[in-house]
Amino acid sequence: MDYVNSLLELIGNTPLLRLQRSLDLTGNEAEDGPLLLAKVEYLNPGGSVKDRIATRMIEAAEASGALQPGGTIVEPTSGNTGVGLAMVAQAKGYKCIFVCPDKVSEDKRNVLKAYGAEVVVCPTAVAPEHPDSYYNVSDRLASQPGAWKPDQYSNPNNPRSHYETTGPEVWEQTDGKITHFVAGVGTGGTISGIGRYLKEKNPEVQVIGADPAGSVYSGGSGRPYLVEGVGEDFWPETYDRTVADRIIEVSDADSFAFTRRLAREEALLVGGSSGMAAYAAKQLAAELAAEGRTDAVIVVLLPDSGRGYLTKVFNDEWLSTYGFSTGTDDASGRTVGE
Ligand code: PMP
Repeated sequence: MDYVNSLLELIGNTPLLRLQRSLDLTGNEAEDGPLLLAKVEYLNPGGSVKDRIATRMIEAAEASGALQPGGTIVEPTSGNTGVGLAMVAQAKGYKCIFVCPDKVSEDKRNVLKAYGAEVVVCPTAVAPEHPDSYYNVSDRLASQPGAWKPDQYSNPNNPRSHYETTGPEVWEQTDGKITHFVAGVGTGGTISGIGRYLKEKNPEVQVIGADPAGSVYSGGSGRPYLVEGVGEDFWPETYDRTVADRIIEVSDADSFAFTRRLAREEALLVGGSSGMAAYAAKQLAAELAAEGRTDAVIVVLLPDSGRGYLTKVFNDEWLSTYGFSTGTDDASGRTVGE
């Protein structure tokens, strides 16, 4: 019989999928390369790449004694990291409290509650120093006896989980032939851990960050953007500034349009940060094709599923509200985002 005893054993070892139709390559390069391979992280059991960091951060806290049996995990998050932590916590018998601002959708809060986590909602309209602010409430909860705060923005086990799992997977799955690695940057854990591993294996591997226009990584000052999970208005400790060779800036419009193309042309229902990273990878593939680099092997990491964004990226009204093209008049999607 072939089975596992814990859902946690299903984390990682995600497949690489070749992208083709959405690349718009014509002629020989469409057949011969560059090869663009997507690392499909929504196939993790919690539905995102964050299952990896949740496991590693919790295991390290158990080993150091920071998290004791029956303890409580407190993290200010409403997204994928929360789901990963809630899933691992449940498997290991810990309680979870997530603190999130009131702007976070009820759907997202309900997902966390469905895993048995407690969700504390804080008003957005108060200053950071206010006792009810998101920051103060999470700090207060995290200072209770038995509580532990992973803090994905400063926890070295975030990038380390990628150095130890995702990086080696990408290297082995490409037989060491990878030439370029592309990922969106949020905490920076993904790009820093995978990038460092790949460069240790072969210093020639180029590491490319994809970043929403306005975020600090591409030289912005934190101007608002709508794509979720990526871009920052500060430099987190988990981001290693020495790893990326280049940052490609992508607009919200291109990120969303390409996210929709991935669903229609590759049957990949992924989130906006995946569309953003894949759009940067597509640009890179076009550059390499123009240089005749048919030997290039590009891997792009797609962090999560599009199911969490059906009322946003995949909703025509929402897109129109922000002035983005919906592409509904174009069945092939070919002109969208171009
Ligand atoms: N995409 C999504 C949807 C995310 O939740 C995150 C994590 N914030 C990222 C991309 C970026 O990954 P990282 O934090 O490892 O840079």
